[in-house]
Amino acid sequence: MAYRFGSHTSVAGGLYLGVERAHAVGCDVVQIFTKNNNQWKCKPLSDEDCAKFRAALAEHKIGAPIAHSSYLINVASPDDELWEKSLEALVVEWQRCEQLELEGLVMHPGAFTKSSPEQGQLRIVDAVQQAIQRVAPKHCKLLFENTAGQGSCLGWQIEQLGFLLAEVGTDHTGVCWDTCHALAAGYDFRTAKGLREMIAELETHDVLPHIAAVHINDSKKDCGTRVDRHEHIGRGFIGEAAFQRFLRSTAFKSLPMYLETPKGTDEESGEDWDMLNLALLRRLAGLKGTTTVAS
Ligand SMILES: [Zn+2]
Repeated sequence: MAYRFGSHTSVAGGLYLGVERAHAVGCDVVQIFTKNNNQWKCKPLSDEDCAKFRAALAEHKIGAPIAHSSYLINVASPDDELWEKSLEALVVEWQRCEQLELEGLVMHPGAFTKSSPEQGQLRIVDAVQQAIQRVAPKHCKLLFENTAGQGSCLGWQIEQLGFLLAEVGTDHTGVCWDTCHALAAGYDFRTAKGLREMIAELETHDVLPHIAAVHINDSKKDCGTRVDRHEHIGRGFIGEAAFQRFLRSTAFKSLPMYLETPKGTDEESGEDWDMLNLALLRRLAGLKGTTTVAS
């Protein structure tokens, strides 16, 4: 499968505008929020909202549409009230993704706070199993995202993701692999050996075959810091050479890749940051021009 690069875009003014914005910067794929990511409540999607969204995807030939879930959701929480609220919110978001026929809903596994990683993992499994029962998804998989491992956040270790997939089954779940989070969590894939080791560990825990999406971000923080700060491609601690190797690895090259890097305009060139990052990714993947970086 050919390379597919895209970005997380704003849906301000309507979901279909997220697709229009993705098209405007040259995306092949798109990630959106289907609701305000910092609020619990949302108004239901109308048939018209969904139809306009699907029509925009078709018109601009944008594929692999996915959503990122609300940052408020924490299905690892030991607090019953927050856990229940999170489960309700997850069900609502997953149903919205089904309505929109998205391919994936990315979710951070959650934070165990005052409990333990083991207890947190079991809470996640419980919530996701209940959500699958209630949503009965036909289109959309829930994608557990690997995290940087800030505080008590789970999902930073590959074996934690493997556990979740094994417990809930992979008919309706998969993984979204974030390159910034992987480095921050301590997976030093910047060398050929390090990349091989990371891929081997993804295989060992049976995670690799279930990765359905990549968040392609550089990192403002170094390997193992467990701090989650996204940076433009090539300008952080991952760097161009490591991205080039990652992009050309057979383990990842067929997956849709979504930028979650800062928006706006580069002051130096006056160009849109998404356009600059997409152009660099395509160059590093060998799609345009012949310039490559030393590896
Ligand atoms: Zn991400």
